[in-house]
Amino acid sequence: MKKTGFTTTALNVPYAKADPHNALQMPLYEAVAYEFDSAEQIEANFRGEYIAHVYSRSSSPTVEYFELKLKALTQSSAVIAVSSGMAAISNTLLALTKAGQNIISGNRLFGHTYALFQNTLSEFGLETRFSKLCSESEIEKLIDKNTRAIYFETVTNPQLDIADIEMLSRVAKKHQLLLIADSTLTPPNVFNAGEFGINIEVLSTTKYISGGATSFGGAIIDHGNYDWKRNPNLSAYTEKFKANAFVAKIRKNIYRNTGGSMAPQTARFQIQGLDILELRVEKCFQNCLALGNFLNAHPQVKKVSYPGLETDERYPLAQKYFNGIPGTIMSFELESKTACYAFMNRLQIIRRATNLNDNKTLIIHPYSTIYAEFTEEERSAAGINDCMLRLSVGIENVGDVIADIEAALS
Ligand SMILES: *Cc1c(COP(=O)(O)O)cnc(C)c1O
Repeated sequence: MKKTGFTTTALNVPYAKADPHNALQMPLYEAVAYEFDSAEQIEANFRGEYIAHVYSRSSSPTVEYFELKLKALTQSSAVIAVSSGMAAISNTLLALTKAGQNIISGNRLFGHTYALFQNTLSEFGLETRFSKLCSESEIEKLIDKNTRAIYFETVTNPQLDIADIEMLSRVAKKHQLLLIADSTLTPPNVFNAGEFGINIEVLSTTKYISGGATSFGGAIIDHGNYDWKRNPNLSAYTEKFKANAFVAKIRKNIYRNTGGSMAPQTARFQIQGLDILELRVEKCFQNCLALGNFLNAHPQVKKVSYPGLETDERYPLAQKYFNGIPGTIMSFELESKTACYAFMNRLQIIRRATNLNDNKTLIIHPYSTIYAEFTEEERSAAGINDCMLRLSVGIENVGDVIADIEAALS
């Protein structure tokens, strides 16, 4: 088929099998198990010669369609949908690493990712070497023969730092390391990860892709641009599955055995989420620009951070990697923590909640919540102060949101 735009593609990805009723929406298959016509057919299935759904913890039709859609939209070689963003990250690392090995990771991470590396996987013998990921030489000092991957987030939250993806890709290639990106904040309609040398993309589809905080989900995306023979942890799979070795290990081992499958009902929400992803993100982005300009001009607002604004120093990177849309999270600073709290408590439309990309605009004071357990030094190293507020911008009529902010500031 001719290459079409994001939403046109989303709406027209064919089902794996024709629907008997020609339904225009992928039906929700809630079945746990699927039957076979004969004993021979089951045997052929278990030998890998007759492909069919068997048991929904391993695969099921509605989840499979979500995977097919995301695969078409990312032009990748394979997608595995899982139960959450954390399941995507943990499955990926369990497949690629083992005790005694290490990964190099950015040090500004989603909190639970940091905890997974620091507290959970470390107990299984995987070491994470945290780094600012700012320079080639700094990263190279951390690489040794047991290093398997470089892990980073495309845009950090709430600092909104943009990774130097070109440099990371160059270092990873030079040392034959796998480059893994968490691109949750920059979904596939704004960021084409494969084009920038990323090998594996992990996503919390709970955020942008779910269509507005409808359900929990995650995705592991293999961009088909890494030679799996270079990873000894996949040696049991490379000969038989070749380019699909990583996906085969996840499906036949990690994903199946740890049980982090996506529920069919969730996949139903997430399919719809992909259909309207581009529309929603563009609306949120327009709202970010309007809010950013309003906040920039307001005398009580000290500082506005949003790399989608021309006034932000990261604007050129947002253009280079994300077609100008570096997610739709922004932050700004008021005079003091007291001013932040008074402001938050006066809001009537913006909701006080911690999530990213709901349809509703959400506000949080990161210092006293997401960073509550951090020491003062750790907060300061993370670039978090108590005057800062984070906005996850929604799809409301932006005049109403601006009026809400204006009234709460006065
Ligand atoms: C939310 C989030 C996750 C975790 O996703 P869940 O779906 O909540 O498990 C991972 N990375 C980033 C950047 C996130 O924002």
